Amino acid sequence: MIKSLDSRQKSKSDWLRYGDEMRRPLLVNPDFDKSNKIVIVGGGLSGLCCAYRIAEKRPDIEIVVLEKNSCLGGVIKTWRDGEWICDVAVNAARPHPSFWRLVQDLGLSDSFKSSNPKAKARWILINDVPHKLSFLSLFKIGPFKLWRSVSKSRLGGQSVADTIPNAEISDALCLGIVNDRASNVDADFLIPSITGFGARPPLPQILLNRKIKSTYPIFTPKNGTLASFSDGMSELIRALNEKLESLDNVTIKLNSKASSVDEVAREFQIPQSSVVWSAPGKLIDGGKTEISVFAIGYHKSQVNHIELGYGTLIPDEKYPISGILHESDCHRSKRCPEDYRLFRLMVPHTRWNQSNDSVLSCAEQLLAAKPAIFSCIGTQKIPTYKPGHMQNIKQTTLDCTYVGWGVSGVSITHLVAEAERLAESLKV
Ligand SMILES: Cc1cc2nc3c(=O)[nH]c(=O)nc-3n(C[C@H](O)[C@H](O)[C@H](O)COP(=O)(O)OP(=O)(O)OC[C@H]3O[C@@H](n4cnc5c(N)ncnc54)[C@H](O)[C@@H]3O)c2cc1C
Repeated sequence: MIKSLDSRQKSKSDWLRYGDEMRRPLLVNPDFDKSNKIVIVGGGLSGLCCAYRIAEKRPDIEIVVLEKNSCLGGVIKTWRDGEWICDVAVNAARPHPSFWRLVQDLGLSDSFKSSNPKAKARWILINDVPHKLSFLSLFKIGPFKLWRSVSKSRLGGQSVADTIPNAEISDALCLGIVNDRASNVDADFLIPSITGFGARPPLPQILLNRKIKSTYPIFTPKNGTLASFSDGMSELIRALNEKLESLDNVTIKLNSKASSVDEVAREFQIPQSSVVWSAPGKLIDGGKTEISVFAIGYHKSQVNHIELGYGTLIPDEKYPISGILHESDCHRSKRCPEDYRLFRLMVPHTRWNQSNDSVLSCAEQLLAAKPAIFSCIGTQKIPTYKPGHMQNIKQTTLDCTYVGWGVSGVSITHLVAEAERLAESLKV
């Protein structure tokens, strides 16, 4: 077992290319760049991006992707029913040049659009009253209290609840991103630039952010906006699959479950350092939470009283729904028939009795009665990132290379940037 952390990519140009991603460790085995054949375990977004970026940089290396299921994409799926379209997991990308580069390189620029700037508002339901989230929300906590807890978080290993000492705000943030309570989520993982985790940028953050803004291909995203594909996120998986199929040095094997790094290395006659493990729960298994996702749609006249916006977070456990996302408000492309609106409901299993009727009656209470469509569109497992997660990762000994949302980041922008960084660690 070899202890390693990537220390190669820490220059100013790397910070300009990757921004705060540079704070996150790249869990690359030091012998990875000696590989002449690489096997990637997992055909989710992370595994596919790693295969693409490595294949592009090193056409001389043979790459095999092993996927245990009969289809690619992992948790990324897009549900359709007639003109209703809804993503089951991620529905949009937050701004990061790595993601914009991927979209451009895959030829998807025409279908990739900024979210509706008029639908940026987010609310938290506190005591049954929606409160609009803004920078001023932080003042609810009290500036001195906030300063004291943020300073303490710089010791590392704290929870988000310790770092943001307002239960409603910190719980809403964590439920919305990792489907967990703030006391159970590592602050270094979720908000590393606030806790000061990892390497420090070589120039002031504001200056760095300004410089990064000028590097976006396609279009420069406006503050507070996201961006999505006309046909939902599965469009990205389709394009990656097509690109990989067109490359001579890549083979994708579906219905191929790997059981260990050692077994993969032996079967493909490669050193363990040439295995990239992108399936969650192998390096640090902190457990998983489960969430079901529902689509619900109304005629516009039924939901006139619901403001245009991005969505509402609901930390109060008396409701089975933890978040309502205004799908048809925020995407530029059509997500429902003309004169209708589509919402996506997030239902954590910790607060749900498994009856669809309880979700429907809660939605009818929070939105409106008699929806035009109501459907459970999927159930997903989300990795748990307990306090200390990033510190544990930093100290890990690596038998192979580890990537994906199971280790370094929950958001797709982390995975896409990580794949670029991994490919760059290979010498030409
Ligand atoms: C409900 C929900 C909402 C989300 N919302 C957002 C969002 O708004 N913004 C955002 O940025 N991100 C969001 N995400 C997170 C985002 O979807 C994930 O970060 C990303 O899709 C994870 O990709 P991955 O490849 O790392 O993992 P996965 O998608 O889990 O892929 C892993 C793959 O490995 C395969 N596999 C597992 N074990 C083995 C094995 N032993 N052998 C072979 N193959 C194996 C699996 O079948 C799977 O295909 C959301 C996720 C969920 C569930």
